Amino acid sequence: MSVPTFRPRVMTEKEEALRAEVREFLAERLPRGTYRPGLGMSAGADPEFSRELGRRGYLCVTIPEEYGGQGGSAVERFVIVEELLSAGAPVAAHWAADRQTAATLMLYGTEEQRRRFIPAIARGECSFSLGMSEPDSGSDLAAVRTRGRKVEGGWLVNGRKTWTSGAHRNDYFAVLCRTSEATEDRHQGLSQLIVDLRSEGVTVLPIEFLNGEHHFNDVVLEDVFVPDDMVLGEVGDGWRQVTGELAFERSGPDRFLSPFPVLESYVREHGDPDDERQAEVVGRLVSRFWALRQISLSVAESLDSGEAPKLEASLVKDIGTTFEQRVSTDLQGLADAEPLGDGDSLFEQLLSELVLTNPSFTIRGGTTEILRTVIAKGLRS
Ligand SMILES: Cc1cc2nc3c(=O)[nH]c(=O)nc-3n(C[C@H](O)[C@H](O)[C@H](O)COP(=O)(O)OP(=O)(O)OC[C@H]3O[C@@H](n4cnc5c(N)ncnc54)[C@H](O)[C@@H]3O)c2cc1C
Repeated sequence: MSVPTFRPRVMTEKEEALRAEVREFLAERLPRGTYRPGLGMSAGADPEFSRELGRRGYLCVTIPEEYGGQGGSAVERFVIVEELLSAGAPVAAHWAADRQTAATLMLYGTEEQRRRFIPAIARGECSFSLGMSEPDSGSDLAAVRTRGRKVEGGWLVNGRKTWTSGAHRNDYFAVLCRTSEATEDRHQGLSQLIVDLRSEGVTVLPIEFLNGEHHFNDVVLEDVFVPDDMVLGEVGDGWRQVTGELAFERSGPDRFLSPFPVLESYVREHGDPDDERQAEVVGRLVSRFWALRQISLSVAESLDSGEAPKLEASLVKDIGTTFEQRVSTDLQGLADAEPLGDGDSLFEQLLSELVLTNPSFTIRGGTTEILRTVIAKGLRS
């Protein structure tokens, strides 16, 4: 029996040059010790930093140049995102718009919407939230109860969205809602509407995170008027669109790099080459980071070849986020085994943030159970 050989992706010279450039920029812009690194995509929001990334061509990397993007590859985007997340850079202001909305607009948006929103997203000047989940509809998205009723020139939207990351600071959000009665197929009759978060009738109510920080919100929509030209793509196409976004949402380095700055600060502050226990734990974690990186990189390559690898993306998210929680437990184990400081060191601060936020990693973007269902169904078909 022949055993398939796995050849890890080797970065090209161009990709390595890009990595070096991003690293140099970050070393200058965010010198170590001058800021507190964030943990993955829920790091801080710094609109000026996002605009700077836009000026440098680090946003909308895969979007064609005529829409303000770089016309680059998903692997090039991977390289940039990997550097930003490893450094714990403040990426939250542009995150959803750059990762997801721009790609969705390219795939499904009208020409007018592409020209209106994508160049602004690429400049880091237009931010989006994702309005999918509702109080009684998270995993079962087709059960959304927010409704859009047709009126002259547009739609009147009523409902309540929840867990909406960044709605308190972003410009727009794409709202999944029912625009016609449900038939036997609940996936019919759903649309995505682009709602200005400052519209009359929109109320953003903060939900505090376990560590006291404010990342997400309830968003109440009461008779919010959305003009016809703000229907994302076609009326009734909402289900196809939101499920089509999943390959972008679930497969990137954001699904396994959240705890990386914590591991790095541990090694910097406590690394001891003679400590076998440390070597065993740190070595295991680093090798798993590396393996996950290869899988995620393979998904980026599939995206570059025009595929929509939903099953593989679900796999990255499942093993990536369960691994993120494992990093937290292992680092806690190491921290418990040795005398630390008085709680003020960067490692201790980041570790306590990680412990309080890691339960969310396997929930946001699709829970583990749902991902495993997607994988099981995908493997069967
Ligand atoms: C940090 C964070 C940020 C988020 N940001 C956003 C955002 O910006 N926009 C947005 O729209 N949403 C956002 N969400 C919401 C997130 O997508 C949902 O929380 C998630 O999809 C789960 O939905 P739910 O919370 O309603 O749980 P439920 O769907 O009620 O699930 C509860 C439990 O039941 C399990 N379960 C449900 N159905 C099944 C099934 N069929 N089979 C087996 N098990 C099942 C789930 O796995 C879970 O363990 C965010 C969530 C978090 C934690």
